Amino acid sequence: MTVELDPALLEILACPQCHSNVSIDYEAEEIVCVGLSCGLAFPIKDNIPIMLTEEARPAVSAPSEREEGSVSIGLADLVDPRLETD
Ligand SMILES: [Zn+2]
Repeated sequence: MTVELDPALLEILACPQCHSNVSIDYEAEEIVCVGLSCGLAFPIKDNIPIMLTEEARPAVSAPSEREEGSVSIGLADLVDPRLETD
């Protein structure tokens, strides 16, 4: 069972969620959104991409978690001790 899609099809396809470009994951037989904050994966049935958000599954590695980690700065780190000269 091999997924065969016309490469030209990829150029006209877009993620219905974020309108980013999409690529084919041949191993998973899915259409994968390349949007960094999206990454939805759409199933391919009978060589037809099912471009529906209801049919899609979220990205395996959620990019949103990475974003949260980058802003995990404690308030204490933002206070300059030199300003506390009462
Ligand atoms: Zn998307």
